[in-house]
Amino acid sequence: MRLAEAILIGGHHTIGGGGGNIRRPTRADVLNYRGHLCNQYDALGKVIWTPALPGCPSGVRKDWLSRIAGEGGSHVPFGSFEPGETYPGIGYINPDWTNDPAAIRGLMLEILDTPTQYGHGLIPTVFLDGGGDNPRPKLDKFYPVMKEAGADLWDSILTVPCGWEPVVGAWRSSDVSYGLEKWHDMVPEAIIGYHGSPERLVGSSNPLEEDDPWQGGESIFYTEHGGQHINLPMYQTPHGRELYEPCTCPRANEPFGHEDDCPLNRYEDYVSRIIAGFHGWKMLPFALWETIAYEFFRYQVGPEQAGIVARRFKQVPDKWNVVTGYGNGLPAPTELMTQYQMRPAGARIWRSVEGTRHHGHIIRPGRAPKLTE
Ligand SMILES: [Zn+2]
Repeated sequence: MRLAEAILIGGHHTIGGGGGNIRRPTRADVLNYRGHLCNQYDALGKVIWTPALPGCPSGVRKDWLSRIAGEGGSHVPFGSFEPGETYPGIGYINPDWTNDPAAIRGLMLEILDTPTQYGHGLIPTVFLDGGGDNPRPKLDKFYPVMKEAGADLWDSILTVPCGWEPVVGAWRSSDVSYGLEKWHDMVPEAIIGYHGSPERLVGSSNPLEEDDPWQGGESIFYTEHGGQHINLPMYQTPHGRELYEPCTCPRANEPFGHEDDCPLNRYEDYVSRIIAGFHGWKMLPFALWETIAYEFFRYQVGPEQAGIVARRFKQVPDKWNVVTGYGNGLPAPTELMTQYQMRPAGARIWRSVEGTRHHGHIIRPGRAPKLTE
């Protein structure tokens, strides 16, 4: 039986329901990330962007969740909860949920009660901040709201206390430390994800900030000052043309065989260290989390690119003999990835994005620093 039929026959469990025969995800499920951040179209031919779930009509919400599950997804990212459009042009206006734990919980339960092909419900992945200067007063206000919303669900949801792309955005490294320590102190059982900025998955500063508690240290980011509480690092690739160009490195199969201008170069820096333990780094689960979202949102690339990019990046963990999660499309056969493909009229190929805004941050040209440890 296909999943869509199972949903129709089984009915849809909503708020307050125990999920019927859909089991709750375990901590192991939560750390095994399979997502479609922004690489699918919906029944209307529009981009699926789940941070807009709070503002969607319920029919759109159900369509989005069932398509994510139908394409092998297990996780659904959303938050933060300020009112308005979550991304310019999305067309849905989110209500203000910054002080509405019941509403946040209701959405999480609807997600948890949506079946996946893995036997458990979809997994809420909740970003607790949306970026911007001076985050600490916002965190002080919102973390208690999220603590109430999440109540007894901590083993089944992923929380991202530092939100979208800290450090290269307006956060200082000391803010990252503050957020991680504070959220862990408030909810010690919370499973914590950390989403870095493009090609950068340590929250210590580079160039050095005076008040950086890690003082620019890289491996110690995951062992001290709050970084020790991170359970799932969530990698983000660069945006733009290089992401869509195949690796042509002559020594690609050797450890660290990628040339500096190949996007697999920085990825290998992190995969080798964080899940393969190179240089004695603390070993953690890991996800290739954001890849084509920027261009897909703008209809510059189609759903098929998600699988192509995921398979290209999969060469790196394969070489190191480790397995990663995938957040922005799975390295599955193209038929599966494009099951719902409906490229809207006017779709166009990639063009330069330098200097434009993404998640509220200016995209800076140039590469993230290479790891030195
Ligand atoms: Zn390469």
